[in-house]
Amino acid sequence: MTPAASQDSAASTVDVVIVGAGFAGMYLIHKLRKEGFSVRAFEGGSGVGGTWYWNRYPGCRVDVVSMEYSYQFSEELQQEWEWSEKYATQPELLAYANHVADRFDLRKDIQFHTRVTAASYAEDSGRWMVRTDKGDSISAQFFILATGTLSTTNLPAFPGLDSFEGPTYHTGQWPHEPVDFTGKRVGIIGTGSSSCQSIPHLAEQAEHLTIFQRTANYVIPAHNEPVAAEEIQKIKANYNEFRQRNQQYPFAFFYETTNKTAQEVSDEEREREYEAAWQRGGLMFLGTFTDLITNHDSNVTAQAFFRRKLAEIVQDPETAKTLMPDFAIGCKRLIVGTDYYETYNRKNVTLVSVKDNPIENITPNGIVVNGTEHEFDAIVYATGFDAISGPITSIDIKGREGRSIRDKWADGARCYLGLMAAGFPNLFTITGPGSPSVLSNMIKSIEQHVEFVSDCIVDLRDKGHTVIEADADAEEAWRAHVDEIAEQTLYKSCNSWYLGSNIPGKPRVFTTYIGWPQYATEIEQVVADNYPGFIVDKPALAENA
Ligand code: FAD
Ligand code: NAP
Repeated sequence: MTPAASQDSAASTVDVVIVGAGFAGMYLIHKLRKEGFSVRAFEGGSGVGGTWYWNRYPGCRVDVVSMEYSYQFSEELQQEWEWSEKYATQPELLAYANHVADRFDLRKDIQFHTRVTAASYAEDSGRWMVRTDKGDSISAQFFILATGTLSTTNLPAFPGLDSFEGPTYHTGQWPHEPVDFTGKRVGIIGTGSSSCQSIPHLAEQAEHLTIFQRTANYVIPAHNEPVAAEEIQKIKANYNEFRQRNQQYPFAFFYETTNKTAQEVSDEEREREYEAAWQRGGLMFLGTFTDLITNHDSNVTAQAFFRRKLAEIVQDPETAKTLMPDFAIGCKRLIVGTDYYETYNRKNVTLVSVKDNPIENITPNGIVVNGTEHEFDAIVYATGFDAISGPITSIDIKGREGRSIRDKWADGARCYLGLMAAGFPNLFTITGPGSPSVLSNMIKSIEQHVEFVSDCIVDLRDKGHTVIEADADAEEAWRAHVDEIAEQTLYKSCNSWYLGSNIPGKPRVFTTYIGWPQYATEIEQVVADNYPGFIVDKPALAENA
């Protein structure tokens, strides 16, 4: 597997094929090249950055503070890059991704505008044959999916979807040129993070904005601000210590906590702490008390606080009532927004609940709900993603005995440690089903997986092995473990994309490991114990017979 020996002259054979050039794919290219592997990455978009390449809707920004939501594998990189705001905007994050691509010369190994459509494992050679929509066929020993967890957009099949005569947009596939809604009547469907970030911006521009809300969500203020130069200097003076500290937290990012349960404090103290958390803003609201996401009664106290806040901000009582969520706070991803509730006080904004009266159809002129046609010049679909497994099952992947990943996951996605699916040798998933992924600072989770995979295949090479795969029993035990942890929380108490329940027909399975530090310890132990739960150089069934 030396680079020279392993890549044929037509470059149709490499050690590793990587799918995706977001933060995961980019770091994989850098890390694996450094270890001497030949790599080829395929990316459907025309540039790097993944999430931050595709989601260009107005108001798009990160909800984990930027000094944390950034690579830490290179001290030089983290020292030289300057974040301008606490929560960086999409353009700044995309500029960062491009800076990383330039700095580490990544683009030469990425084929852009190319989607991987199929991949099959050949048991006799122990190699993957990967195919693309541009007609490429490329053979690789290792096949790594850096396809992201939120990269396959969900466009509900509303009757008459294609009949609308004006322009339509999906937040996850936003045009590269700025879109001008000035003087337009705009309808937006959905009230998840993407919608709640864009609504204040759309309302500023549009003549009138109508929001179609199926489920009211919790939106906490971001209180975004420029990062003070002294703050940056302080962190950079000891960036590693800052990183190490933050990785002790359940989601791998820092937050202030009382270290108490909501039950053990007086009503006055609880209110004071919620108010302080509201004033600080951000996702860390959920960390105010240690049991908010595990204890129903505690969660109810946070819900009540939230409702009081909402009623104070939104002037029209009917609108405020419609905006009140009716599920456990944190069960769906908490939304971090700016001026979200305030926007409903504008005269050019209307909220339409489609909870009890779902959208009936799309017409050439607009959207029909409860027999009424709402007319628009433009429609924005902020309807989310087929999350976590969607980007993987959208590729026709066939493992041992030609078994497809779609069949394997028909009753729910599963991977041992979130890294490998049994029956799919030498195929790794970065932040795959069963890892902390979307319930963590994703860049940290990405780095951890990339380093695990790299160390694993270097170890394999050093020991003269060629094939590694997950043991089916270990995979099943891990699936049950992930579910057992989720059962101890409130995450399964509502419908959310965490559970796949936003996609009609998708099995309702919780596929995210809750608890980053515990997961990190587990991963370290697996490496220290020489990869228990993985099988090396397992013979093909035919050889077994
Ligand atoms: P992505 O960035 O999703 O990149 C995957 C890439 O793979 C895409 O470019 C896609 O085109 C490509 N791809 C997929 N399938 C194929 C195929 N078959 N062939 C070729 N190319 C393919 N996480 C946080 O931790 N904090 C945040 O604040 C945060 N904010 C977010 C905001 C938005 C709007 C969204 C959608 C997600 C956010 N996330 C956040 C999650 C975010 O996805 C991750 O933080 C991170 O960017 C994921 O990087 P990735 O490389 O794993 O995947
Ligand atoms: P989302 O959270 O899944 O929201 C989609 C919205 O569309 C929901 O309100 C959903 O309603 C609605 N919807 C879907 N199908 C519908 C239908 N048929 N009729 C009516 N409404 C429908 O998607 P998202 O907003 O794109 O966010 C996805 C994730 O990406 C976030 O949770 C977060 O992890 C990440 N993200 C982060 C940020 C950030 O702050 N950094 C920004 C954007 C996205 P229901 O709730 O009823 O299903």
